[in-house]
Amino acid sequence: MKAEGHPVYHKAVVTCACGETFETGSVKENLRVEICSKCHPFFTGKQKLVDAGGRVDRFNKKYGMKNAQ
Ligand SMILES: [Zn+2]
Repeated sequence: MKAEGHPVYHKAVVTCACGETFETGSVKENLRVEICSKCHPFFTGKQKLVDAGGRVDRFNKKYGMKNAQ
């Protein structure tokens, strides 16, 4: 069955700014993200140079997390 007129949904390679790559489903073949589960402070418990304008700081305050360095 062909679904013409619909976007093709296939595996996409997502490349994170930290260098991590993983696959997901998307209509695009290649995606770029700035943060992923490997480098996000929520998952790593560490802060990295991904803070843009105190975003991580607010994130930490919101979730009551302290700097873990
Ligand atoms: Zn990452």
